[in-house]
Amino acid sequence: MMDTSEFAKWSAYAARWSRDYHDGLPGRPVRAQVRPGDVACQVPAVPPEESESWEQIIADFERLIPDAMTHWQHPRFFAYFSANASFPSILAEQYISAMACNCMLWQTSPAATELEEKMTDWFRQAVDLNERFSGLIQDSATTATLCAVLTMRERALAWQGNDIGLHALPRLRLYATAENHSSIDKAARLAGIGQENLVRPATRSDRSMDPDALHRCIRQDIDSGYLPIGIVGCIGGTAAGACDRLGEILAVASEFDLYSHIDAAWAGSAMICPEFRYLWNGIERADSIVINPHKWLGVQFDCSVQFCANLQLQAETVGLRPDYLATAGQDRVTNLNELTIPLGRRFRALKLWFVMRSFGLAGLRLLVRNHVAWIRELESLFDADPDYEVAFRSPLALFGFRLSDNFKGTDRLTGELAARINDDGRIYVTSTPIDGRPAIRVTAGTFATSRQDVLSVHDIVRQVTRSVVDGQNRDDSCG
Ligand SMILES: *Cc1c(COP(=O)(O)O)cnc(C)c1O
Repeated sequence: MMDTSEFAKWSAYAARWSRDYHDGLPGRPVRAQVRPGDVACQVPAVPPEESESWEQIIADFERLIPDAMTHWQHPRFFAYFSANASFPSILAEQYISAMACNCMLWQTSPAATELEEKMTDWFRQAVDLNERFSGLIQDSATTATLCAVLTMRERALAWQGNDIGLHALPRLRLYATAENHSSIDKAARLAGIGQENLVRPATRSDRSMDPDALHRCIRQDIDSGYLPIGIVGCIGGTAAGACDRLGEILAVASEFDLYSHIDAAWAGSAMICPEFRYLWNGIERADSIVINPHKWLGVQFDCSVQFCANLQLQAETVGLRPDYLATAGQDRVTNLNELTIPLGRRFRALKLWFVMRSFGLAGLRLLVRNHVAWIRELESLFDADPDYEVAFRSPLALFGFRLSDNFKGTDRLTGELAARINDDGRIYVTSTPIDGRPAIRVTAGTFATSRQDVLSVHDIVRQVTRSVVDGQNRDDSCG
């Protein structure tokens, strides 16, 4: 077994490797250039019976793993949403790993519990939420949303669902537009509400929920004997960055006494900048909000902050106090496991503490502002280029483009272009259908990214486009 001095030696080695890895990122292709099975076929089929040397293990790691990874910290990662791991966050994870404490109860890790309460309060102030809200840290927005949907369900059922099950109760209805992330669908399924009872109110041309449509859906459902339980709004939908107008939909929620949850997993981080806060006008009436510092703010996965106006409702829904977890004085402290689905909890607050102190809110704001400004600049290059059209815009660091009608078979070619861009490896983007047609999504949010990296997307896309249309007939009649 490795002793502490061996551990110290290899830990220092890992630290040097980490530095070299980050220094070398710009020279790597962003998306892994491997085929399915390439890695698996090089790993033995059976586990070793005897201990292997650390030199051997690390040699295999270096040979097999880094080249077969897609590099999320790469300066030219423009796909999905970024999942930054800033250096202060990586260091926090080293300390968290070294202590490896389970933070389920106050008593099992007092500093972790108290720091989590403090850090979620710092973060609440950073994103300008009022003191109605208290926070906790979840592993992911998906889990936070599931907790919120379960809470909606139980609140509407006066906690009977937890006690007697759903079979004898009215059919439940949940409302969210089609611009929302699939985690809302997942929550509807897992909470026993059922996909068919996730109702999609119509959206307006800016992709926000139409409050009149929402109102009509709820009225109709009540008239038909359904039980509406809550509304999920989005600030920064995943495909196209859609933002609901919270004042309007939360007014409908309170008219019908429905619980509300706002999914701001990505865009919520931008609320550290006052100039973007118009996007969440009206947020103070929400019941639950989720923001992922593990996307834009450099606090690496996992760190998803959920704010609730009344934590007690969630505790009554997902919390349990079995006898074997009882601790003396438990009514004077917070046992955070009572607010989350898993019992075990990681010490995630340390990452928020290190990152907010090391960057300062001003430092984090600068990063977010730059990403938004650079994406606007890049978008204007595509706007000015007759070979492309901007397929959708968002107020933050996200837009989409496709080939223009200068090309025959625009939609098919756009799909092919996305694949070829990622095979090329210099940049990484994702594609998504927007309004029924393919679009290539570009987002900037990685801390290592520079303005030059963002602007280079236009040139690289032009080069790859040329190789895609090579040999295909360009339709000049449309030019
Ligand atoms: C990324 C994202 C999610 C899912 O986040 P996880 O933390 O991975 O569960 C949900 N909603 C939105 C809007 C997102 O951008």
